[in-house]
Amino acid sequence: MNWPDRLSSEARMILQPYFPDVDLGRVRLRGKIPWYVFDKPAGYTDRYSIYIDPATIPVDPLDQFALLAHEIEHTRQYLQYGTWRFRCLYVLSYLKNRYRGLKHRQAYQNIDFEIEACRAESRVACDLLARASSLPQVIEKVERETYNV
Ligand SMILES: [Zn+2]
Repeated sequence: MNWPDRLSSEARMILQPYFPDVDLGRVRLRGKIPWYVFDKPAGYTDRYSIYIDPATIPVDPLDQFALLAHEIEHTRQYLQYGTWRFRCLYVLSYLKNRYRGLKHRQAYQNIDFEIEACRAESRVACDLLARASSLPQVIEKVERETYNV
């Protein structure tokens, strides 16, 4: 897939309602995760720049929107806390988890900001799934199963 520089108008239309405080027109999509990012996650966000590794872009559009929602939530967090405050709180949250005895992966997954981003990701994925199964098709399926036609 050709990864564009900006969010498509479709992506902005779908995702903007979830992020009223983020101007999605300012989001820039960058290809490769920067070299200094530890552990190479699926995505990485630095303010309005979202890095997604072309090799790991999800095939399913629903998964793409969900991943974008995760990363845009990080943009929102940058805006809420300010760049350096957010970065400090992010690292502190990780270190706190390590201090509690969690291993690297768990400590990362339990960073407060990651938990929030995963919630945003799930919310978008669930909403899109619900929309994808349109009511007429569901009714038709129930009728078929009930009346065995
Ligand atoms: Zn994240």
